[in-house]
Amino acid sequence: MSQLLQDGVVVPPAVTDVHRPHRPDWACTACRRPWPCAPVREALLDEAQIHPTNVRLYLAGHLEAACRDFPTMLAGELRNRLLGWVVTKQDATR
Ligand SMILES: [Zn+2]
Repeated sequence: MSQLLQDGVVVPPAVTDVHRPHRPDWACTACRRPWPCAPVREALLDEAQIHPTNVRLYLAGHLEAACRDFPTMLAGELRNRLLGWVVTKQDATR
């Protein structure tokens, strides 16, 4: 069973328990790099190959909060930071 969907609720993989976004600067709580950091991206990309919609919903859930924390940043820039890197094998064949 996917770690991202349990009882109909989107749940992030375990790596996001440690590598979480610190608000309002959105640095990772573990490695202090911009969130989503490399360990989170790696785990979510693996998950996205199986459940791409769940991964995008999880990340989109952070987008609204990020927009509030970065009111002067363009929404497209935030969208690219949070979601733009999620490319699946299915996307590549389109
Ligand atoms: Zn991190």
